[in-house]
Amino acid sequence: MILFNKPTCTGNEEKYILESIKSNKISGDGEFTKKCHNWFEKKLRCKKVLLTTSCTHALEMAAILLDIQEGDEVIMPSYTFVSTANAFVLRGAKIVFVDIRPDTMNIDETKIEQAITNKTKVIVPVHYAGVACEMDAIMNISHRYNLFVVEDAAQGMMSTYKGKPLGTIGHLGTYSFHETKNYTSAGEGGLLLINDEKFFQRAEIIREKGTNRSLFFRGMVDKYSWVDVGSSYLMNDISAAYLWGNLEKADEINQNRLNIWKKYYLSLKEFEDRGLIKLPIIPNECIQNAHMFYIKVKNLDERTALLEYLKKNDIGAVFHYIPLHSSLAGVKFGYFDGEDIFTTLESEKLIRLPMYFGLKENDVVYIINTIRNYLI
Ligand SMILES: *Cc1c(COP(=O)(O)O)cnc(C)c1O
Repeated sequence: MILFNKPTCTGNEEKYILESIKSNKISGDGEFTKKCHNWFEKKLRCKKVLLTTSCTHALEMAAILLDIQEGDEVIMPSYTFVSTANAFVLRGAKIVFVDIRPDTMNIDETKIEQAITNKTKVIVPVHYAGVACEMDAIMNISHRYNLFVVEDAAQGMMSTYKGKPLGTIGHLGTYSFHETKNYTSAGEGGLLLINDEKFFQRAEIIREKGTNRSLFFRGMVDKYSWVDVGSSYLMNDISAAYLWGNLEKADEINQNRLNIWKKYYLSLKEFEDRGLIKLPIIPNECIQNAHMFYIKVKNLDERTALLEYLKKNDIGAVFHYIPLHSSLAGVKFGYFDGEDIFTTLESEKLIRLPMYFGLKENDVVYIINTIRNYLI
């Protein structure tokens, strides 16, 4: 069986986890957390980052930081993971879904403006498959209407838009280190990227149960106390130790995934040229991280049949997402603005092929040959 995914592990993770245990500081903000924070701030040229328990929680922190209130509206694509919406729904927001572009499966930036009302507070672009949304257009809209932008860059670490790392363009950004993402922490994990200085202090407070504990540790107050709302959003240091093993080898991991992606792309190109499938499109201004390799077939029936065929041949291919606006909670907490031209139609065609650090070239060849046998 060729698995769909394996958590990234490059060799030193076990050693670092043991080091962390022996350091007698295994809860949040220990030595490995500091190493990871420094690495990200340098690599991303980002003023401040905070490791969190998950990307879901980084998104929740963003919603608290932006003071989302009952009735506020948040614009996002319907083709995304539930956490993008849930984080804002938890604060009482109404979710306004807009259509995606069929080329990148990202939010259609030309549909955002018509969805804005006097209640709109935030736009949440989701960089699907680590390929950037049209951020210049989105930032331009946000400036003209005085809106916040939170980039859900859960899949976007190591990707850029016009040279800027994803997650560093909007006011806030989030990454995920779930085992299905390119870089992994032990258990679950995420990162909040804070690109606007006015949020620095409050972000630390929200992450530390609403206390000014981090100011206390820096000697800036003599006692720490409860000063705001908050929760426990710190990543434990054992998880950060595992993540550090990945970060050390970040370029190697990225290159390996890109090689696999390219192999898929070049081998499957002939079937696209013959009109049998469609392959991902990477716009010129985007450098991607090979988070995903997907193909699109003609329709839902063909997808079901091909997935079944791949499964029979021991290949772990999957599909996702059921568009949020057509889910039970999506109907309750939001609405689709404008016409659903591409969201449902395109989502039903998409198949994700196995993709992970260390996936063997002969496995990729086997997958490609199996698809060839099905198509021809
Ligand atoms: C994975 C993912 C999340 C959630 O990340 P967790 O770390 O599992 O909470 C959110 N948004 C998108 C687009 C994702 O792909």
